[in-house]
Amino acid sequence: MTVEELCESIQAKRRAFYEARKNTTPKNQPTASDLGDCVRETVLAITNWRDRPGFDVELLQRFQRGNEVENIAVRELMELGYTVRIDRSPFELKDKKGRVVLRGHADGFIRTGENPQHPVDVPFECKSLNPNVYKQIDCQEDFDKYVFFRKYPRQLQAYLLGHNLEEGFWLLDDCLGHWKLIPCHLDYERAEKLLRHAEQAVEHIAGGTLPPYHYDPSYCLKCWAFKRICTPPFFSGEGMKIINDPEFADKITRRAELDAAATEYEKLDKEIKETLREAMKPEDNWIIGDFLISATQSKRKAFSVSASESLKFKIERLSEEDQIKKSSEDYEASLAKDV
Ligand code: SF4
Repeated sequence: MTVEELCESIQAKRRAFYEARKNTTPKNQPTASDLGDCVRETVLAITNWRDRPGFDVELLQRFQRGNEVENIAVRELMELGYTVRIDRSPFELKDKKGRVVLRGHADGFIRTGENPQHPVDVPFECKSLNPNVYKQIDCQEDFDKYVFFRKYPRQLQAYLLGHNLEEGFWLLDDCLGHWKLIPCHLDYERAEKLLRHAEQAVEHIAGGTLPPYHYDPSYCLKCWAFKRICTPPFFSGEGMKIINDPEFADKITRRAELDAAATEYEKLDKEIKETLREAMKPEDNWIIGDFLISATQSKRKAFSVSASESLKFKIERLSEEDQIKKSSEDYEASLAKDV
């Protein structure tokens, strides 16, 4: 066997290894780790679980890497002297009728407390993130900016509620060995919303009905149920067209590739200018590292603009959930609509 054949054989075996793990398993209740923005999707994931495609090989490989990162993190915490408890038994949240509406289990608990007779367990969730996303997350609210990562606060808030605890934290790893530890406190408003989401889903499952469609086409386009078992009405409207223009599609793809860097640039630019505005006076010149920073005073002229109409465009990547941002008001509106 040549080395080329060996390489090909390793790739093929690895692919086959993950292909064999592509499966979909049934579930009876919503799970805390999987509460997206669409209650209808939560219902379909339970009632039509057979229609849900398994994760693709690339995603399974990513999950596997995430599991390894979690194991390493737990080991490191223990080496640092912390008592880590891994509890695989799920918690359950019930509604007023006594029905289980949500299940889940935390990645682990760190044992703290002054009195060994009365230890306090603090739950944590370990998340391995793409380094570009990792840089953007510094607090719970930062997760809310990403459609995919918005699940994380719901997940940890559910664990706090389920275990009757007030505090937990996220351990974020950028897959390069760096950590961020982000505290999380029980937020009754968030907890109430996720419970409402789960309760509505269970109510629909019991009644054999479906919640309203999600109203954001960009969200539906990334949903596994889309056009398999769910076709929202706006996709049959006159405004929906498929345009075959590869050159223009390339431009939109390139724009999306630059988006993460642009977002980081904007964040840093804002932070830097806020700091400089506090610290510098007009005509000051500072040298910081390799940069000369000059402060000048500028006056803004008053002007008026006549009324006009304009088109606004929202351009989003269809294939990568984690790059799509969407306001949390959308989600709240969808829950409020289905009461
Ligand atoms: S296609 Fe849209 S409305 Fe249908 S389940 Fe998915 S997100 Fe919800």
